[in-house]
Amino acid sequence: MTDHDVSLLNHWIDGKAVEGLSERRGDVSDPATGEVTRQVAFASAADVDVSVSVASNAFVAWRAASLAERTKVLFRFRELLNQRAEDLAAIITAEHGKVLSDALGEVRRGLEVVEFACGIPHLLKGAFSEAVSTQVDVYSIRQPLGVVAVISPFNFPAMVPCWFFPLAIAAGNTVILKPSEKDPSAANWMAELWAESGLPAGVFNVVHGDKVAVDRLLEHAGVKAVSFVGSTPVARYVYETATRFGKRVQALGGAKNHMVVLPDADLDLAADSAVNAGFGSAGERCMAISVVVAVGPIADDLVAKIADRIAGLTVGDGRGGADMGPLVTRAHRDKVVSYLDAGVNAGAKLVVDGRDHPFHGNPAGFWLGPTLFDAVDPEMALYTDEIFGPVLSVVRVASYDDALALVNANPYGNGVAIFTNDGGAARRFHSEVEVGMIGINVPIPVPVAFYSFGGWKNSLFGDAHAYGTEGVQFFTRAKVVTSRWLDPSHAGLNLGFPQTT
Ligand code: NAD
Repeated sequence: MTDHDVSLLNHWIDGKAVEGLSERRGDVSDPATGEVTRQVAFASAADVDVSVSVASNAFVAWRAASLAERTKVLFRFRELLNQRAEDLAAIITAEHGKVLSDALGEVRRGLEVVEFACGIPHLLKGAFSEAVSTQVDVYSIRQPLGVVAVISPFNFPAMVPCWFFPLAIAAGNTVILKPSEKDPSAANWMAELWAESGLPAGVFNVVHGDKVAVDRLLEHAGVKAVSFVGSTPVARYVYETATRFGKRVQALGGAKNHMVVLPDADLDLAADSAVNAGFGSAGERCMAISVVVAVGPIADDLVAKIADRIAGLTVGDGRGGADMGPLVTRAHRDKVVSYLDAGVNAGAKLVVDGRDHPFHGNPAGFWLGPTLFDAVDPEMALYTDEIFGPVLSVVRVASYDDALALVNANPYGNGVAIFTNDGGAARRFHSEVEVGMIGINVPIPVPVAFYSFGGWKNSLFGDAHAYGTEGVQFFTRAKVVTSRWLDPSHAGLNLGFPQTT
């Protein structure tokens, strides 16, 4: 608990801040100082029920709003978010710890989905077939689902919610966002921006909290769909529970992303990319590279080049121009540190120890510098676990086939990268690798908004990936209408199955 007065972040329901019925609270910290900066309300099941009721009522009018009306609000939201991106980035840095430029990058990638959602009139167009049978026409339409829940993780407090709510709202749904309790303020900031953009009250709501709030959303009959992003055990639980309650679910889970470096690759480019993708956002990205797979004789050179670059990285308060900020919480930092001892004990070679890296900031912050392990074996916890911190492991293999087998045997399948100058090898890799998002000489291949984001295997439960056209389909249901405008010649009884004539 806090030893000084801090403000309370409330839920946002029906267009206003609401304290809620529960007295449960959580602390929110500034990772760069270690200080508790505010508290956040934790919803009870009754609080969730209120939000679902509000969102259900708002759905009646919002689904009936014309596409012209909806896009007017979306364009306004896009303009305001674009203008004030830096304000949101500052909030993210203060609660997540990532450096300001990275926080701004996250906002801009979220903005791309808002821009994609502005094209909803085109995206919702159905098909029309004239005269499929004599005087019979067929057309298809897509309609919103109702109230949808978005449950998001700590590592992208703005971008990940933006993967879902712009399209959900554009398609005519109403939304309840349950953000991470670790960095919850971005959600309320975006809710206020929606209100300023002219979105009717009740269409976008924020309910804060933990498992209690999530469980109620998963079982509530008024919630029609759940978009979840978080760790694999919770993603699996959310998928199994919400589908049991008859909902449509997309649950994106954790990751262990490999970067395969073939012997012909440009090693300087590969080393730069490994460092950028391994230590950006202190490794707290679901698309971070956590394993470099060095193929053949290049391993010694590559490890040396990566270690060299790590030495030049600055670690410090994200507001001060450092390359890398602190980790999100003390508990998470301590957990990541525990992997360093475990790696050494298991026999991996600790090339760079992040505990020795200097940092510029308050010693009470949640600091850990970039760490590099070589000679990591796939049996070690360093390799099997998603560490989600600034720890990069190098696994040495003899051949392309060994690299491919390693990646494909991994239970996660979010992102992967291959670095090579051999187009044939890259082409073979994209065809053979069992991963949802692939980068060829691109270390963090997060798809642009008009494609869809999603992994394979334990990185995604459900059928629909996030945003892009899969996002539009996820947030809508199809109807097909067969119509005949009567002609007297079609009168008369016929009990046979309708056939096209
Ligand atoms: P998390 O699973 O701890 O929490 C995610 C959300 O679930 C939060 O809103 C949290 O309040 C809620 N939650 C936590 N435990 C719960 C429980 N037992 N029951 C019900 N709800 C629960 O994840 P995190 O630590 O916030 O985020 C990091 C994880 O998210 C990493 O595993 C990362 O790989 C993953 N992630 C995946 C993607 C992707 O696209 N696949 C994107 C971002 C993050």
